[in-house]
Amino acid sequence: MFQKEYTLIMVKPDAVRSNFTGKILARIEEEGFAIRAMKRVRLSLAQAQEFYSVHAARPFYGELCTFMASGPVVAAILERDNAVLHWRDVIGATDPAEAKENTIRKLFAKSKGENAVHGSDSVDNAKIEAAFFFSGLELAGQ
Ligand code: GDP
Repeated sequence: MFQKEYTLIMVKPDAVRSNFTGKILARIEEEGFAIRAMKRVRLSLAQAQEFYSVHAARPFYGELCTFMASGPVVAAILERDNAVLHWRDVIGATDPAEAKENTIRKLFAKSKGENAVHGSDSVDNAKIEAAFFFSGLELAGQ
């Protein structure tokens, strides 16, 4: 038996700007995810730095945070069996040049940095990231 699981995803600013949000949301539903919460929001630079603080020591941190604050993102909590790993499979490798055919990054990403979508890398991080975007009130009744 599979357990229902949650993951936090974002449509990143490059994909929102290119009007890929609808296609990505359609793929989410085709893959059997239920969208349990969703919002479109523009992160401030400080908020992007907080979200990606785990990468603070990486050479691309500055570029990543500037990009993530460059325009609105669409953030959502998705529910499905094996949600974290299934979403990671659906989005593909970080660098679209290395992503498999028909993955979201292969289809829609521009580069390793501007790569269309985010997905939590563990159930524990999904909880932390969901709480970053959504209040207790918004999560209640899910
Ligand atoms: P993910 O889990 O596949 O999203 O990849 P990581 O956790 O390794 O990196 C987080 C995000 O940082 C990626 O999705 C990219 O947007 C960005 N990133 C990773 N590597 C690079 C890089 O070499 N250059 C730039 N500009 N951004 C990067």
